Amino acid sequence: MRRVRFVDLVAQQRAVGSEVQRAVVDALDRTDWILGTDVQAFEEELAAYCGAAGAVGTDSGLSALELALRAVGVGPGDEVVIPGNTFIATALAVSATGATPVLADVEPLTHLLDPARVEEALTPSTRAIVPVHLYGQLADMEAIGEVARRHDLRVVEDACQAHGARRWGRRAGTQADAAAFSFYPSKNLGAYGDGGAVVSSDPTLLDEVRMLRNYGQRRKYHHVSKGFNRRLDTVQAAALRVKLRHLDAWNEARADAALRYSARLSDIGVLAPQVAEGNDHVWHLFVIQVQAREEVASLLGRCGVETGIHYPVPIHRQPAYGELAWQAERLPIVDAQADHLLSLPMHPFLSEADTGHVVDALASALDRTRMREAIHG
Ligand SMILES: *Cc1c(COP(=O)(O)O)cnc(C)c1O
Repeated sequence: MRRVRFVDLVAQQRAVGSEVQRAVVDALDRTDWILGTDVQAFEEELAAYCGAAGAVGTDSGLSALELALRAVGVGPGDEVVIPGNTFIATALAVSATGATPVLADVEPLTHLLDPARVEEALTPSTRAIVPVHLYGQLADMEAIGEVARRHDLRVVEDACQAHGARRWGRRAGTQADAAAFSFYPSKNLGAYGDGGAVVSSDPTLLDEVRMLRNYGQRRKYHHVSKGFNRRLDTVQAAALRVKLRHLDAWNEARADAALRYSARLSDIGVLAPQVAEGNDHVWHLFVIQVQAREEVASLLGRCGVETGIHYPVPIHRQPAYGELAWQAERLPIVDAQADHLLSLPMHPFLSEADTGHVVDALASALDRTRMREAIHG
């Protein structure tokens, strides 16, 4: 039986492993393991790739988000509007600054932050908005930027799922105060462990993040702020430099797979993921909605097809955020969709046979669940 992995790091390693190994050995031999030459080079290459003025490497995407928020002045007493469907890190970054996350509903077809709902979530305490480029396409940055301008708010993009994604030709990291990236291994650009970066075209902001990530110092042992140790590892940067050169080709391979999936989904009565006008989607995740999700997922599993759920429990229903439970009334779309979201395998190494097998398996799983529902109601 064909096995289709949700993410295939083994295939990725086969493709670039030896190239990465040489770069990593060079970095080890150079012995500049903290903020070494590869960190600086990677920061420059990532910024150039995004079309931004600069980048600052961090130890994770969560750190990148938190430090970017701190750098734009977010702190205790502030509110930050984020979408209701995102990975928990978006909320945790806000909480880490001492501010309060405020959840806004998403657009039903793209699952992206709805600018109209952002407007409704504003209070006199709102300081910033964090649009999340969920699943690999950019949120409506023009409309969100417009809300921000009208209310004098800062905007930090959560680009942790959108390496290389573009909106009207411009990449994440160029349409707001800053963008935060994660290099968690399964992201479109992944490290061999944790890593992250803040990308921005504001030199003051970049300088602030650089200071905060390195013990609050610009000059060694001269501490202007109670900073952190959130530096990107030099060895990770060496590996990321190699992988950055493959990112565009990998994103194209993801888009090819997405096209193959989408072409067949309507035939089996499933709505293909919607790409918003102006967007080049990089397909970090390929998310559909199905009835009887648990059963469909388990039937797919029996056919060797791995699936995921992004995300099964919305933030306002997490025990960690009990204080946000009351916001459910503002999140009808997030709540209605949470039980139906299903992520199909998505990575650059999916063959035509793989995507074909996934849709075949999905078709028979849906047949079975629909039949059962027709009989039992
Ligand atoms: C992965 C991810 C993060 C966090 O990244 P880490 O590197 O794991 O800290 C934040 N936001 C979103 C939307 C993500 O997908």
